[in-house]
Amino acid sequence: MLIQGGTVLDPAQSLHAVRDVALAGGRVTAVAEHLTPAPGDEVIDARGLDVTPGLIDLHVHVFPGASHYGIEPDPHCLATGTTTVVDAGSAGALTFPAFRKYVIEVSQTRILPFLNIGATGMLSAEVGELEDVRFIDRGRALAMIEAHRDLIRGVKVRLSRELVGANVRVALSTALETAEAAGLPLMVHPGDTPIPLDDILRELRRGDVLTHCYHGREQGVLDERGRVRAQARRALDRGVNFDVGHGVGSFAFAVARAALAQELRPGTISSDLHVYNVIRPVFDLATTMSKFLALGLGLDDVVRATTEMPARAIGALGELGTLAPGAAADVTLLQFDSGDVEFADARGEKVKAAARLVPVRVVRNGVARPAGLQRPHVPPAPFSGRPR
Ligand SMILES: [Zn+2]
Repeated sequence: MLIQGGTVLDPAQSLHAVRDVALAGGRVTAVAEHLTPAPGDEVIDARGLDVTPGLIDLHVHVFPGASHYGIEPDPHCLATGTTTVVDAGSAGALTFPAFRKYVIEVSQTRILPFLNIGATGMLSAEVGELEDVRFIDRGRALAMIEAHRDLIRGVKVRLSRELVGANVRVALSTALETAEAAGLPLMVHPGDTPIPLDDILRELRRGDVLTHCYHGREQGVLDERGRVRAQARRALDRGVNFDVGHGVGSFAFAVARAALAQELRPGTISSDLHVYNVIRPVFDLATTMSKFLALGLGLDDVVRATTEMPARAIGALGELGTLAPGAAADVTLLQFDSGDVEFADARGEKVKAAARLVPVRVVRNGVARPAGLQRPHVPPAPFSGRPR
């Protein structure tokens, strides 16, 4: 396959220029100013489009039928231009084999999960996965990680009050010990935590992930005077990855704006796409990227935060997150669409913008498919009350 004439944005190679991209045998084989198609090559005309490494969403939930958050990965992720997703703890040690067999292995979207330290994973909307301390099981989690080393890229812990009950400290320490013993990063979900965020940040190591980093609930990155917490700054300096994880209650423009103004920038931009936000306000990763353009981040920075940086976070840079020769043949083609648009955060604040990124085509393992935004950004028709 030859992708011709697009503007290649590959921050991992500091590349932002019109280039042709050749793919063969499931790999990128060449990136150059002019490549000639060989007989039988599929040629994709990318003139006027941005060509990026296949987008990576570091935080989604794609275990439908088991986790109440679960969405189908292919129609919601691959079809919106995201070739790789990290499932952030939908499955735990008790449920991971089913996640692998019935979702990961049969999906076209590449799924690289973080294992929930709560052994059930995120099954129930009524009972938090860490409320019963018997499910916080380091041994069981480590055994599952060892059995699925080829897939599992990290450990996840959610520390909101309604999810941990009285177990917040044991949950955090067990998750950290497990990640440490496995040699993997820990992703922490904060927000309405029963302990101060500073106590969490202090524990995080280089490469660990603080997701929902611009949430607007209790215990966010800003102190009561709106300044970035000193512990957040220290964590950033030591290489903790601040991840967006937009979600349904975890992204506030006001917090992001204040944090960006104080140079607390996101390492990775992710959607936290799941059942409760896929219609609105998240829709897809490209829309989350567009929100950061609206907040003033540059296009290269936004692409870096959805290609190079998430690939680094899961130890996959080179294979993923770049179009350097030898990388996986995963490519996203985006249109930079000018025109008035409006975006909403998880709290209902609206922001007007003059452009958005629209996925138009996606290549996964050398196979091209059409792509698009999740759905037209218009309100759905009011429910008629009649079954259809
Ligand atoms: Zn999540």
